[in-house]
Amino acid sequence: KGANGKYTVTLIPGDGIGPEISESIKNIYTAAQVPIQWEEVSVTPVLKGGKTVIPDSAIQSVKRNTVALKGPLATPIGKGHVSLNLTLRRTFNLFANVRPCVSIKGFKTPYEDVNTVLIRENTEGEYSGIEHEVIDGVVQSIKLITWDASERVARYAFHYAQSQGRKRVTAVHKANIMKMSDGMFLSACREVSKEFPDIAYDEDLLDRVCLQASNCGNNVVQNPRPYSDRVMVMPNLYGDILSDMCAGLIGGLGLTPSGNIGRDASIFEAVHGSAPDIAGEQGARQPYGALAVIYDDVEVSMSLSESSSSIDSIDRHMNLNQYAEKIEKAALTTIAEGKTITGDLGGKSSTKEYTNAIIEKLA
Ligand code: NAD
Repeated sequence: KGANGKYTVTLIPGDGIGPEISESIKNIYTAAQVPIQWEEVSVTPVLKGGKTVIPDSAIQSVKRNTVALKGPLATPIGKGHVSLNLTLRRTFNLFANVRPCVSIKGFKTPYEDVNTVLIRENTEGEYSGIEHEVIDGVVQSIKLITWDASERVARYAFHYAQSQGRKRVTAVHKANIMKMSDGMFLSACREVSKEFPDIAYDEDLLDRVCLQASNCGNNVVQNPRPYSDRVMVMPNLYGDILSDMCAGLIGGLGLTPSGNIGRDASIFEAVHGSAPDIAGEQGARQPYGALAVIYDDVEVSMSLSESSSSIDSIDRHMNLNQYAEKIEKAALTTIAEGKTITGDLGGKSSTKEYTNAIIEKLA
């Protein structure tokens, strides 16, 4: 906290719909008088020693402030482009990606009580980026799983469950096929589970969790309710896909927040990408997911102390809980009224009109 009583948080506006959403967040925070001042930085790569890298100023800002809010960063598909998201995760060793997905009160979807928390290993697995062409027409991509990263994310998941009153951790896997890699991920989860006797632990196959009728009727698509009592932890790719599926249950990708948690810094963002398909459209951009990083349980994962196993909540750390509640109430009331909402929720309002409706409620 600075001399002016405000916290400085790095803001990376991002690509596509990112800058517009960032603008909305800034205006809402100002209206709610949240004691945060933004340090806006660009992560557009620059040339350094013949390599393209994230500008030093951006890296230093995140290091200094230890908390950042980030807009989506587009990654062109195909050769020659390293994902900036991956680079940020590696640079700051953001080892856990927390993705809560909670039904939006007042917005009707087939299920009214979705409340899942998914924790995704964020640094390796299928997204290790180790790929090469063996011979013409044959490419090898390496799924790297290490004991250390698996154990670290598992421990984080158990701590998260404990601090949030969730009774169970479920490790989601495909160890029936990937016996060694997912097998080791599971072994690490089992080992860590012994340190948490008050938290139940089980394992389930990814496809059964998504949808399989024989799975006692419990699967995220047909019966998400049982997942409300637990935290799901899994390797990188599975978490990426399963969390998008969960977002679909509550109304879409614009509604879900996420926290990339590291030991020395944490970067918060909405789950969605730069949404190039709606980038030119009016009224289609939903800022809720980016806004909800300060509530919806992501807040508790703002782990800023030296040890990755200690989890401090944003209200203890930054004492912002009262602001989070105020903003949440204003956003949810605006959605429930249904008069001034964006296209993804069936409305016709622009991002600005929707933002202003939330701001009026804050007043
Ligand atoms: P996307 O999340 O951008 O879009 C998927 C769908 O959800 C689209 O139909 C889009 O219109 C909709 N959507 C997303 N955000 C929305 C919002 N706030 N309000 C309303 N609707 C919204 O996924 P994509 O199209 O696969 O990816 C586009 C780009 O974003 C790619 O370059 C990808 O690499 C990147 N991406 C970045 C991140 C990140 O920075 N964390 C995450 C995912 C994708």
